Amino acid sequence: MAESQQGGPLDDIEPRLMLGAGSQDTMVTTIRNWDRTLTWRPTTVHRPADADEVSRIVAVAAEQGRRVKPVGSSLSWSDVADIPDQVLQLDNLNSVSVDGMLARVGAGAKLRDVNESLAAHGLSLENFGSITMQTLGGYIGTGTHGTGGRTPILSSFIEELELVDGLGRIRTLNRESEPELFSAARVNLGALGVITAVSLRCVPSFDLEERLELIDFDTALADLDAYVDGNDYCKLWWMPYSDKLQVYTFNRTDKPRTPFTMQERFDASGLSGRVFTGILELSRRRPNLTPRLFPAVERRTFRDHVRVDRSDRIIRYAGTIPKHQETEYAIPREQAAEAIEGMRRLVLSASAYKVNFTQEVRFVAADDIAMSPASGRDSCYLGGYTSNLRTAPAYFLDFEQLMAQYRGRPHWGKSFNRDARQIRDLYPRYDEFARLRQQSDPQGVFGNRLLERIFAPVT
Ligand SMILES: Cc1cc2nc3c(=O)[nH]c(=O)nc-3n(C[C@H](O)[C@H](O)[C@H](O)COP(=O)(O)OP(=O)(O)OC[C@H]3O[C@@H](n4cnc5c(N)ncnc54)[C@H](O)[C@@H]3O)c2cc1C
Repeated sequence: MAESQQGGPLDDIEPRLMLGAGSQDTMVTTIRNWDRTLTWRPTTVHRPADADEVSRIVAVAAEQGRRVKPVGSSLSWSDVADIPDQVLQLDNLNSVSVDGMLARVGAGAKLRDVNESLAAHGLSLENFGSITMQTLGGYIGTGTHGTGGRTPILSSFIEELELVDGLGRIRTLNRESEPELFSAARVNLGALGVITAVSLRCVPSFDLEERLELIDFDTALADLDAYVDGNDYCKLWWMPYSDKLQVYTFNRTDKPRTPFTMQERFDASGLSGRVFTGILELSRRRPNLTPRLFPAVERRTFRDHVRVDRSDRIIRYAGTIPKHQETEYAIPREQAAEAIEGMRRLVLSASAYKVNFTQEVRFVAADDIAMSPASGRDSCYLGGYTSNLRTAPAYFLDFEQLMAQYRGRPHWGKSFNRDARQIRDLYPRYDEFARLRQQSDPQGVFGNRLLERIFAPVT
């Protein structure tokens, strides 16, 4: 999976969607998520041309008691995009138009295309995830986030949504018209309807200077607040078993963009990803090597550096990302240092697994969206990642228990096991969302496995 620094995706990122020849509305399809751990065989694949067609498809499904699931790029690790029956692919709804500082974007547009179109208009978004292959619908379906202690998730910048509800009605949602549903639909888990278009508030395009410093783990934790508050954006990577934290800071700059370094060329070529994939394979076969292997990889590959580039290009990951699994939780920011230390202890003390992937720590400002993991609290996102499929469940369970100590809210698109009672306890506006879901989709047209689990009746 990869994108080059210039923005051209390498094809390995695309989850495998196999359509039968000429099939527009018919079967013969397998959809797999990004790491191919989840597979669905929808009964029908719909690729509507516009919102009217989405409306007709949903209305017929409601009449027939069928289910329809809108999906984006199927990147999610959780079963949030589980397809129990028919699927809606919105790749035809991919237009981007700009009016002043507002961009109106089709929900099937991919972030990489949105970023490029905005840049051509001298505009930018303000919060950037690590990849740009998500569709806008999927991005806001799961509350996808980037990093930056002062910047909320992208969903906070939505000014208006067009949504087809569970009865096939096309509704325009904004702060004046249907404010409650508008607010909730900005992180919607695919539960409230099909988003067909989104209006986003943008900012003038800007460049960022990235600075990477490898800092002693305890020293970096002691200075955590200074890193987060003193920079526009900040993230931490931890190579398991290393005694360093990789501290990445990003600040707005007018400095000239830096030319590609050899390392960046190596990353963008896809070769570094292949080398890393080989290292991961070795650590899976010989887990006991992992504690020595990863610090060695860090010493050889990661060096302090400074780079300047366009904001969206510099924050996203430029190289090939080897297949791996992720779980991630948002916890109150003030508990970040303690929780990061807890994560290190967990990894170092575990005997049942050897965690063999970079762990990630990011920061996001509070928002006012009912089911956003950052709802109502400035948050630190801790990502537990591993490329060992066999031991991932054990690691993720321990990680989840650790995060529960901090009232961690799971990322909807990543692996988690929390049930309805636990989710309800974590979200003060859970009942409001459940009521809106009932009103917007009274027949459960958009229901699937994950929604059944987290909205199961709680007594
Ligand atoms: C390599 C990799 C890196 C990642 N990096 C990050 C990161 O940096 N930050 C982060 O927060 N997450 C990250 N993720 C997770 C990813 O952003 C989310 O899983 C995101 O939802 C994927 O978008 P998608 O288009 O694939 O959506 P899908 O996985 O296809 O769908 C996700 C949800 O959105 C719903 N949905 C999709 N389209 C619509 C629509 N039009 N209307 C209504 N509902 C819709 C689906 O029904 C489903 O519930 C990463 C994932 C991968 C594989």
